[in-house]
Amino acid sequence: MKKLLLLLLIASAYSCKTAQTTASKDNSDPTKYVKAISEKDLKKMLYTIASDEMEGRETGSPGQKKAGLYMIEQYKKSGISFPKGASDYYQHIPAAFLNARRNENLPDSENIWAYIEGSEKPNEILVISAHYDHVGIKDGEVYNGADDDGSGTVAVMEMAKAFAKAKKQGRGPKRSILFLHVTGEEHGLHGSRFYSENPLFPIANTIADINIDMIGRRDVEHANTNNYVYVIGADRLSSDLHNAVVAQNEKYIKMDLDFKFNDPKDPNHFYERSDHYNFAKHGIPSIFFFNGVHEDYHGKDDTPEKIEYDALTKRTKLAFVLAWDLANRENRPVVDKK
Ligand SMILES: [Zn+2]
Repeated sequence: MKKLLLLLLIASAYSCKTAQTTASKDNSDPTKYVKAISEKDLKKMLYTIASDEMEGRETGSPGQKKAGLYMIEQYKKSGISFPKGASDYYQHIPAAFLNARRNENLPDSENIWAYIEGSEKPNEILVISAHYDHVGIKDGEVYNGADDDGSGTVAVMEMAKAFAKAKKQGRGPKRSILFLHVTGEEHGLHGSRFYSENPLFPIANTIADINIDMIGRRDVEHANTNNYVYVIGADRLSSDLHNAVVAQNEKYIKMDLDFKFNDPKDPNHFYERSDHYNFAKHGIPSIFFFNGVHEDYHGKDDTPEKIEYDALTKRTKLAFVLAWDLANRENRPVVDKK
C-alpha cells in the first residue's frame, strides 16, 4: 500500500511536470509577466520623465530630446532594440511636416521606437503608442506633464520590459510589437500622423494600436475610487478588440471599464483627440486608455507628486494583458465595422 502510493505520487508528480512544460510553451497565461509590471519602476521613470530637467518636453525642444535620450537608455538597459528596418531609435520628422497645417515654427522632432520581434508571425505588428511631448515652459513655469502623457510614456516602457523578460524566458510574443513614442501630439497629433503616413511596417500588417494617454490620475466623476479607466474606440472597428479588453480585464485585472466617452455622440469627442485616431482612420482597430480630465489638465501642477501610482500600475497591467492577448491570439482582431 505504501509503496504503491509512493509510485502513484511519483507518477503524478511526473505528469504534473510534463503538463507544466507543455503549458509554458503556449502563451495563454500572462500572470508571471503581469507581476513584472512594477509600481516602483513606473514611479522612478515618471519622476525622471516629468522632472523640471525635461522642461515640459515641448516638441523639438532640448528638454524633449533629453527625455528621449533617457527613454532610449532604458530600452538599451533592457536589451530592447530599435525596429528591424530602422537604423536607430528615432523616426525623424522634418519641421516642414510639423508646420504644414498650421505654422507654429516648430523645429524638427522625432518619434522614438523600440521593437520586439514575434516568434511565429513576425510580419504582423501590434503598435503600442503614447506621446512623449508636452507643452513646455510658460511664463517661466515648467509644465511637467506627468499625467499628460508621462504616465503613458512610462507605461509603454514598462510593458516593453515585461515582454522582453517573457522573450528571454522563451515566451516572447508570437506577433511583433512596435513600442511607439510619438511627438507633436499637443500641436495636433503630428507624430502619429507622420507615422501613419510613413509607416515602417505596412499598414495592412498592423493588427491594432493600443494608445495610452493619461492613466495616472482620476477625474471628478470618480472621486471615490481610482479603480477605473475610460476605454475609447475599441468597438468602433472591431468587435474582437472590444471583446478582448472586456475578457482580459475580467480574467486578470477586474477594474471598472467606463465606456461613457466611447459614445460617438459624446460632445468631448475624445476618440478624435489622441494618437490612436491616426491609426483608426487607416482602418486599424484602435483602443485608447484614458483617466479623464482633472483640475491640473494642461496646467503647471500636472506633477509626478500628484500621480496615483497604484492606479497607474493597475491600468498599465490592463494594457499589458490586452497586448499579450493581441500578440499571441490565433487570429488577428477582425475588422467588422465601418
Ligand atoms: Zn495627451
